[in-house]
Amino acid sequence: MQIYKILKKSNLDSLVSILSKKQKFMAPVSKGLNKFAFESVTSSKDIALKYIPTILAPKKYFMPQYETLIEYDTKEGQNMKAVVEYENMVLFAVHTCDLAGIQCLNIVFSDRPKDLNYLVRKNKITIIGLECNEVCDEYSTCAFMDNDLPNGGYDLFFTDLGEYFIVHVNTQMGDAIINDTKLFEDATVSHINELEKLREKKRKLFINQFGIDRQKIPELFDKSKESQIWDDIGNRCLSCGNCTNVCPTCYCFDVMDVQNLDLKTGKRIRVWDSCQNETFAKVSGGESFREARSDRKRHRFYRKFKYPVNRYSRFFCTGCGRCTRTCMAKISLLETLELLIKENKVK
Ligand code: SF4
Ligand code: SF4
Repeated sequence: MQIYKILKKSNLDSLVSILSKKQKFMAPVSKGLNKFAFESVTSSKDIALKYIPTILAPKKYFMPQYETLIEYDTKEGQNMKAVVEYENMVLFAVHTCDLAGIQCLNIVFSDRPKDLNYLVRKNKITIIGLECNEVCDEYSTCAFMDNDLPNGGYDLFFTDLGEYFIVHVNTQMGDAIINDTKLFEDATVSHINELEKLREKKRKLFINQFGIDRQKIPELFDKSKESQIWDDIGNRCLSCGNCTNVCPTCYCFDVMDVQNLDLKTGKRIRVWDSCQNETFAKVSGGESFREARSDRKRHRFYRKFKYPVNRYSRFFCTGCGRCTRTCMAKISLLETLELLIKENKVK
């Protein structure tokens, strides 16, 4: 049975206040110029309830850009200590595309060999989703990727219905918030009807721009290996790696040892890496698997639309549009897919 509750908008500040006293409370805040970022807040006044995808996805909390894995001290023998960095936190107002991104990371890091650091951190994060009532902007392809409506991956899920939020309770962690804060009321049939009306309206607003069924995408990529389109976008790409940094499902990393000046102590860290960097696919002897930028661009698209479908039966593009918004070379994911569809006559 689905459990729905109501939170009056006038009670949102009390909710933020109670939860932010117990642990960090992260929410989208405005950074000006229609840019947003997840940051720590203590008041609902600081939260941007209407926002387009934040500059960085919430993956930064699940997989920090820098993370210590090991600390060592060789002053007296070989002392090495495994480190797991985590914080209790509530992540508030996560859009459906980013919930899908977190689900992708969960799948990857739960695969063998399981990533203990990621899994411990994930279990300390309570996720409260927030429905998008409108399409963010022209770069969003969330409807095509089936991420315009909630598909799980949250503890509570809020939908803004004017004077109140209707709240789907999905886990025990979510239920604990309802019980502990005592700010929520039971939803009635008329509240549920309002939610259904909004979802009906959304079906007309959130459209598939491509005119093909997304199940055709693997076939499209089967036919696209030798496409000229990879050369065209490769010639424009600056290999800056911004598209992978902002992507909610890119998880590649490097591991390096950082020694202190005493030459006896130090740490091993994990740091984000990007398949768009020339050095990423370099191996000993100086050979590179993907020396050409066109090969690196193609690889990125196949890592979203082909390889994860083969391995996990899931697309690793959520349709958030961040890669297109951030690209200095104006390489557009939407346009690239449109060109591939046209070139291969996939219907
Ligand atoms: S953000 Fe644009 S220019 Fe930078 S690596 Fe990605 S596609 Fe290339
Ligand atoms: S590939 Fe682009 S649109 Fe797709 S999830 Fe990554 S950043 Fe978002």
